[in-house]
Amino acid sequence: MSQSKEELIEKLACEILRHKALYYEGFPEISDFEYDALEEKLKALDPGHKVLNLVGFETKNISKNKRQHKTPMLSLAKTYDVKELLSWQKEKEIVATHKIDGNSLSLIYKKGELVLAKTRGNGEEGEDVTGKILWVKECPKKLQEKSLDTLSILDLADDDEIEVRGELYCLEEEFPRLAEKMIALGLPEASSPRNIVAGILSRKNHIHLARYFNFFAFEVIFKGSSQFFKTEMAKISWLRDAGFSYPPYKLLLKENDIKEYLFALKEEIDSHSYGIDGAVFNFNDLTSHETLGETAHHPRYKISFKWQGETGKTKIQKIIWSTSRFGTVTPVAQVEPTYLSDATITNVTLHNLAHVKLFKLKAHDEIEIIRSGEVIPKFLRVIKQLPGEPLIPKECPSCGSKLKEESIRLLCENNLCGARVIFKILNWIKQAQIDDLSEKRLIGLIEARKVSHIEDLYKLTKEDFLELPMTKEKLATKLMHNIEGSKKISLVNFLCALGIEGAGKTTWLHLTKVFSTLEDLLKATPEDLISLDGFAEKTAEQITKGLKENKNLMEKLFALGIEVEKREVTDGQVPLEGLVFVLTGALLRPREEIIEDLQTLGAKVSSSVTKKTTALVSDDFSKKSSKTTKAESLGVPTWSGDELNNFIEKKLKEKK
Ligand SMILES: [Zn+2]
Repeated sequence: MSQSKEELIEKLACEILRHKALYYEGFPEISDFEYDALEEKLKALDPGHKVLNLVGFETKNISKNKRQHKTPMLSLAKTYDVKELLSWQKEKEIVATHKIDGNSLSLIYKKGELVLAKTRGNGEEGEDVTGKILWVKECPKKLQEKSLDTLSILDLADDDEIEVRGELYCLEEEFPRLAEKMIALGLPEASSPRNIVAGILSRKNHIHLARYFNFFAFEVIFKGSSQFFKTEMAKISWLRDAGFSYPPYKLLLKENDIKEYLFALKEEIDSHSYGIDGAVFNFNDLTSHETLGETAHHPRYKISFKWQGETGKTKIQKIIWSTSRFGTVTPVAQVEPTYLSDATITNVTLHNLAHVKLFKLKAHDEIEIIRSGEVIPKFLRVIKQLPGEPLIPKECPSCGSKLKEESIRLLCENNLCGARVIFKILNWIKQAQIDDLSEKRLIGLIEARKVSHIEDLYKLTKEDFLELPMTKEKLATKLMHNIEGSKKISLVNFLCALGIEGAGKTTWLHLTKVFSTLEDLLKATPEDLISLDGFAEKTAEQITKGLKENKNLMEKLFALGIEVEKREVTDGQVPLEGLVFVLTGALLRPREEIIEDLQTLGAKVSSSVTKKTTALVSDDFSKKSSKTTKAESLGVPTWSGDELNNFIEKKLKEKK
């Protein structure tokens, strides 16, 4: 007997409500994607169903301490489709940032002091969680003076509220530690960083556990805020001035920029210490927010993008640990072949040491896995397992040295570890495009003690190759030719080939737009990188440190005849071609915008003042920095942002 349409709608609505409640209580049974699919199904049958318009969910088991949101806390429109994203964007300038896998929070400040913190709840009213949020270091109890000063022109009354909204989240590193702590306290076991936050926010006791959480601010609302901020970038810089953290962001315009951004994010998604489940895009021009407005449950000026994920169930056959080129020993599960997202899955990443320990992952465990943006599917949760402790290796599977447990990772610290050396050299071979030098041949050369470092590749002779099995004159000549050909290498490929932790091709492409020579890049400080592009502090430090550590190798390579080609910055005739600017200190316009403008017009932006510098630009020369002193001594003019603008305008007119 078939179900009537009404019965089906009713069943779907109940199912959606049940999963919504489980999600907000911190114990979801299905993936976000499966949940969205349920909503889509219902939408197709009954587009106006009231269940579809619910934002959040009121859980039954939490106290009645409800607080109204003066401006409703709407959820974001979301898409899994790049085409849909582009048709929303319509070539308008957008700011892209990470979508944090956390819990939305609203913080209310009066006279600059935190007076109330509440969850999103149903969007109209949320739970008062002030007591818990006071424990969170990244939720400032007081807004920084500087941010309040900029608002002084608004004449806000003492009673006027400043509301800051954002996401409360748990760092991946903290998660296993906190989860263990909760088990020790007899609290329910949390299955993911997001659930742990939801779980603790809904508790009446143990509120101090909230101190393990972090917070990213995304939005600020006060009387007149919609006229006050002209751009999203200005809003971000206000939030930072007020003392909040904001995840790395980027200004995008062209279709290709957006595609590149998503591609890069997908690549680096696992390298961040917090959970990212997509990207959020916001129109930079905030005057458009006013005209675009919002639907009943989401604003039109903002959209989130997620990769479609499919989940499946399987059984672990064996856990294999292997050493990467950075020395991290990571666990991968060999599983019973499962068909997922058009592919047969046999390997699943188990993330890291901490995950294996926390979930006690062992052979024969039944697990749920997910495959979304990434190529390799990931472990999601345990479905069924026998008691017992997991097996953690004590020695490096490659070199046998004793492994060190560092935070959530297992590390082989032996720089000469075979696996680390092989992967490092293989990376060079791939990036420098040395064809025909396969992993097997490389291992042969390593075993014959002809190669143990990257630079050894350039000392090889034809005879060395001829000693390899099945290698005749013709192939040996070809290999020598290919190695010779790899000596001329582009700056970006050279940087990729060094294999510096924290940076991939997209990062280098981006960085070399600003630092177009290796010398410039080597001089850059972590601060330069942070101010340049919203680089995260950790990444900026990793990159500059990695460059320094590779200096020795670079010198050896240059001595062996490696030539790095400079990156071309300009294409064609452009009005500012040949000019070099250095930006320093506070600037009224967002730094990234200025850099973008200068580069589009053909100028170079450098991090250090030299004789060649056209001008040093800043809107605050009150503090004397090493850059201003250097500019003075070299006779380099110092300009304000306005002076720079006038100069650009003049140049543009001359061109016409
Ligand atoms: Zn090792």
